[in-house]
Amino acid sequence: MKVLKFGGTSVGSPERMKNVSKLITDGNKQIVVLSAMSGTTNNLVEISDYYKKGNADGASNLIGALEKKYAGVIEGLLETDTYRKKATEIIARECDVIRSFANKQFNVQAEKMILARGEIMSTNLVQLYHDENNIQSVLLNSLDFMFVDADGEPVMQLIEEQLQKVLSKYPDTTLFITQGFICTNNKSEVDNLKRGGSDYSASLIGAAINAEVVEIWTDIDGIHNNDPRIVKNTHPIAEMSFDEAAELAYFGAKILHPSTVLPAKVKNIPVLLKNTMEPQAKGTTISNRTTGTGVKAIAAKDGLTAIKIKSGRMLLAYGFLCRVFEVFEKYKTPIDLITTSEVAISLTIDKIDYLAQIVDELKTLGTVEVDKDQTIICIVGNMIAEEQGHAAEVLNSLKEIPVRMICYGGSEHNISVLIDTKNKEKALVALNDNLFA
Ligand code: ADP
Ligand code: ASP
Ligand code: MG
Repeated sequence: MKVLKFGGTSVGSPERMKNVSKLITDGNKQIVVLSAMSGTTNNLVEISDYYKKGNADGASNLIGALEKKYAGVIEGLLETDTYRKKATEIIARECDVIRSFANKQFNVQAEKMILARGEIMSTNLVQLYHDENNIQSVLLNSLDFMFVDADGEPVMQLIEEQLQKVLSKYPDTTLFITQGFICTNNKSEVDNLKRGGSDYSASLIGAAINAEVVEIWTDIDGIHNNDPRIVKNTHPIAEMSFDEAAELAYFGAKILHPSTVLPAKVKNIPVLLKNTMEPQAKGTTISNRTTGTGVKAIAAKDGLTAIKIKSGRMLLAYGFLCRVFEVFEKYKTPIDLITTSEVAISLTIDKIDYLAQIVDELKTLGTVEVDKDQTIICIVGNMIAEEQGHAAEVLNSLKEIPVRMICYGGSEHNISVLIDTKNKEKALVALNDNLFA
């Protein structure tokens, strides 16, 4: 069985939905994971922001616009009055869920309920299109099997058991459709796998059913060697290892949710990145095969905060690093990069919900400096931290740019540097010119 995931742009219009339907009705047994139509999750975030500010009128206007947009989608997608009516009722039901928060206390849970509507709407519309056109498929509710624990981490065994249970009800079905992104948490509430999480849904489902392949269908022909939104003349990479792709996704390449690679790697399931607009393009295959040497790709991750802790006591003191890490563990804040010297330690974090508390506690260990608006530039390739010359090439490319941290040697696939976000574009272009010339 295969798992195929189609992102927001791939289901972004009635025509695109029909195109997806063509791609998935080849008779192969498969589970198809859909994102919300492009723009919808952003709209839902905006609506939530209005509620947060107590502006129910602002929210109401946006919900009205959303409902109107979907009326147009229904008209383009479905032919008959019967199916148009069914679809209109579903969209109205979902919009009413969003409206129901107008007079309630708004909280994180309300936001999660609202954000879940996008995937529910897109999957229902594609299923209705199939029903109207006598295309056999079954719509599965991902809330019935995609479970996360109190830390938002997937509970693999439960996902496997529940998905098997659901699938066993349809022994003769070849095509299943389900929502990406959304899940059920340990309190049985609607939750999500964070923005871009449909990729992660697909690889979790793939791992749960031991799929032969997980295909991520998007709007570009695979992972490129640099961010195509910033750098000109990038090219797709035909093959990457799980480790290379994981580093790239974790450190910024927007094309894949940062956690996507892990479930597939654990079960050794190849992940294929394909272009919905150009299905014949080869795309990228991520597998346990390691091919080639040298630099393969560069990515950037913004929104980092750098923290430096300086302490005379670090000198020769065992236990110092442990005490620093305990502070981050206490506030459930992951550390991305880390560098140490004899008198100081520098590290970066992405999540700043508890920054004030963390800094207060770190101050008991030494003097603390915080720099916001930092960007990690991650350079990935097979053996680049073991072969001679790559580190020199990277640093030489960045000679005009102030570098705050350098991480090298942590794995053989990666060199990472931390720079001020204002220098990101310049850094990506300079690295591109030097490393791929
Ligand atoms: P989807 O909605 O299908 O999940 P995303 O927008 O999340 O698609 O991801 C695809 C986009 O990622 C591409 O359109 C491209 O602009 C961007 N991107 C950033 N870095 C890379 C990269 N290294 N290779 C390919 N695409 C990238
Ligand atoms: N719709 C969600 C988002 O926009 C999840 C996804 O598209 O992967 O973040
Ligand atoms: Mg995405």
